[in-house]
Amino acid sequence: MTLLALVSAINQMREETIMDRYVCQICGYIYDPANGDPDNGIEPGTAFEDLPDDWTCPVCGASKDEFEKED
Ligand SMILES: [Zn+2]
Repeated sequence: MTLLALVSAINQMREETIMDRYVCQICGYIYDPANGDPDNGIEPGTAFEDLPDDWTCPVCGASKDEFEKED
């Protein structure tokens, strides 16, 4: 493994730990950035903040406003 590859692997790990999970206040669905929402075209590794504004809860259809950061 080159140094560059090592650094990028560490950065990737750091990003994954920084990103917060968000909970739908209506149905309890948890948006986990590590998994994304592939069914709706959201790639794994997408932070909640980076979701499109028109993204909705895949379970109940609630808007992003209904989500709160998980404790
Ligand atoms: Zn929901």
